[in-house]
Amino acid sequence: MTLLSDLRQALGNENVLEEPLELYIYSKDASLMRGEATFVVFPQSAEQVATVVQIAASHNVPIVARGAGTGLTAGASPTEGGIVMVTTALNSLEIDSDNRTAWVGAGVINLDLSTAAAPFGLHFAPDPSSQSACTIGGNVANNSGGAHTLAEGSTTSHVLGLEVVLADGEIVVLGGQAPDSPGLDVKGLIVGSEGTLGIVTRALVRLLPIEPEVRTLLLDFPTVEEAVATVTEIIAAGMIPAALELMDQRMTTAVEKWLHAGLPIDAAAVLLAEVVGERESVESEASQIGEIGRANGARDVQVATTEEHRALLWKGRKSAFGAMAQLAPDYYLHDAVVPRTKLVETMRAIYEIADRYELTLLNVFHAGDGNVHPLIAFDASEPGINERVHKAGDEIVSACLRVGGALSGEHGIGLEKRDLMRMAFTEIDLDAQARLKEVFDPTGLFNPKKVLPDGSRCFDFGGVRREVPEGAWV
Ligand SMILES: Cc1cc2nc3c(=O)[nH]c(=O)nc-3n(C[C@H](O)[C@H](O)[C@H](O)COP(=O)(O)OP(=O)(O)OC[C@H]3O[C@@H](n4cnc5c(N)ncnc54)[C@H](O)[C@@H]3O)c2cc1C
Repeated sequence: MTLLSDLRQALGNENVLEEPLELYIYSKDASLMRGEATFVVFPQSAEQVATVVQIAASHNVPIVARGAGTGLTAGASPTEGGIVMVTTALNSLEIDSDNRTAWVGAGVINLDLSTAAAPFGLHFAPDPSSQSACTIGGNVANNSGGAHTLAEGSTTSHVLGLEVVLADGEIVVLGGQAPDSPGLDVKGLIVGSEGTLGIVTRALVRLLPIEPEVRTLLLDFPTVEEAVATVTEIIAAGMIPAALELMDQRMTTAVEKWLHAGLPIDAAAVLLAEVVGERESVESEASQIGEIGRANGARDVQVATTEEHRALLWKGRKSAFGAMAQLAPDYYLHDAVVPRTKLVETMRAIYEIADRYELTLLNVFHAGDGNVHPLIAFDASEPGINERVHKAGDEIVSACLRVGGALSGEHGIGLEKRDLMRMAFTEIDLDAQARLKEVFDPTGLFNPKKVLPDGSRCFDFGGVRREVPEGAWV
């Protein structure tokens, strides 16, 4: 039997795509890197996922899991070919309001989960700006964050259990309703593993109560540095707002041209702050944030007076990546994280690098987390520009690492940052991660050549065992 006939027999003809145009559609995610799928499949259950895994193993063809394809690091791009497994039909949703949890199929869209939980007074805290499209499986695989994960933590803080298909086709359940499962935290390893260790078919997630009161503030500043200093001081004052998001002038201008969200385009930077909780604490925190902002040079502090006003401000923020189309046909986005206290010097370095490479760079980011998202707007057809964009990107990442930051705050490594892993990890560190991958996936079935650079295994360095250097994390 051929691979195609095996897949068709297992899933039905309608759940296997093979036409060139269909394959092309699934050949990349939201990053710039395209691959080439051999076939695209849509399993309808965990059992069908397991069957496809066994078929792929028997034909020695890799599998790339895919949710909505909104990932920004080529994680779901089949750059080594193979079967693209789209999980969107795994869309079961069981809310347990008494336990404030839900078992959610990997293909459920993030926003749909919160919409379904709202009648119970509950919501799912991680809210990537792509939340109206991205799936829970993708959120788990990338350990995604969002504007409102500052106080509540990224996806890993909200996953209690996982149903996963392993490389031999076994379906296992890791974790569960108990707040702390005994034994090793294998579920914790799967969260953030970017489809390289197994296929997530369902997740048991924590749901949080919808807070009774919310205040959304918009502060505008004459300089980016004053806006960033305000962020650091708000946290240092003992508050952890629900969100602290920053946009620079180029970004607000692009958004306003498109959406008219009411952002002041004459300000060098705006800070969107949100506080939630009981009325008294919300009012007190909102006024403290206003005072800290003014002390740092804020020209104006607006408080959204209606739900429509608040929704419009958030629409402006969450549509920022889309607004890039106002400037250029292509954009390259970096996602790195730095200690909040290093934000001022990091922002200076980022602007300096872009100026030196004569690139148009915009900033919109989860400032409260220290999670920067410099976006470079460019036209890929311009001769020589791709090289400049990538060199500038590498320098930006280096600048973040130099101040104690990390390679990714929330988007993951995928292929886009794979070769930068050596900047952050020693050979021994990479070898340990490659060994772990081998335990789960000895034949390299799942998402090959992602996350770990070639030569990560020590044996790839001529089989020479090395002493563990000081500072290695193993
Ligand atoms: C406009 C825009 C805004 C964004 N904003 C944010 C943001 O605020 N915060 C943030 O963190 N990210 C953000 N992202 C990035 C992206 O939306 C997230 O990483 C999201 O979680 C990806 O979900 P997805 O369903 O699209 O996954 P995909 O892109 O399809 O896949 C992402 C990775 O997960 C793996 N994967 C998918 N499903 C499974 C599964 N069932 N089992 C195992 N592995 C799987 C894939 O192989 C791939 O490695 C944004 C993206 C865009 C385009």
